[in-house]
Amino acid sequence: MIAGHFGFAAIVKSREPRVPLWSLMLATVWLDIVFIPLFLAGIEKLEPIPGLRGGYGQNIIYADYTHSLIGALVLSAAFGLMFGWRWGKRCAFVLGFVSFSHWLLDLVVHRHDMPVLPGNWGNLPRLGFGLWQVKTGSILAELLLVILGTWCYWRAARAASLAAHKGHSRAIVTALLILLGGVAVLVLDVTG
Ligand SMILES: [Zn+2]
Repeated sequence: MIAGHFGFAAIVKSREPRVPLWSLMLATVWLDIVFIPLFLAGIEKLEPIPGLRGGYGQNIIYADYTHSLIGALVLSAAFGLMFGWRWGKRCAFVLGFVSFSHWLLDLVVHRHDMPVLPGNWGNLPRLGFGLWQVKTGSILAELLLVILGTWCYWRAARAASLAAHKGHSRAIVTALLILLGGVAVLVLDVTG
């Protein structure tokens, strides 16, 4: 899931207009960004489901540090603090929350592969509700988040422009970029 995370960031932007949109977008995929070097180093792994070709939602993901419950909490707190020392407590809290929302949304789609403790310490049961098993269901859920995010963002940005007695063409353009960007990411994710 990538597009759905971006959609959620846009929803938060409509509620927290003072936090820059780019930082919310970055927060929402922060866990996956940290995943990349660990994946390249062979510490975190992807394993295609036998019989499937390893495309969209067809992998067991052993992201045992970045996507463990405790790992995600620690990384999210670190992300919030990274910006919070300059932008203030509220931004830190919002960005930390958005970063952790990645784990919560992943929990819905992942195939029972998310550990509680880093490195799956203690061999506790792995988590994940497995919506990826129903491909159309997870695609629709992501699309819904993108559309909802676009709509919330557009409404909030338009109201802000009206209040400032400015035209709202910028709000429309940014909302369109969120919508088109989200749909493009989803299409690439599903077909890639
Ligand atoms: Zn993820």
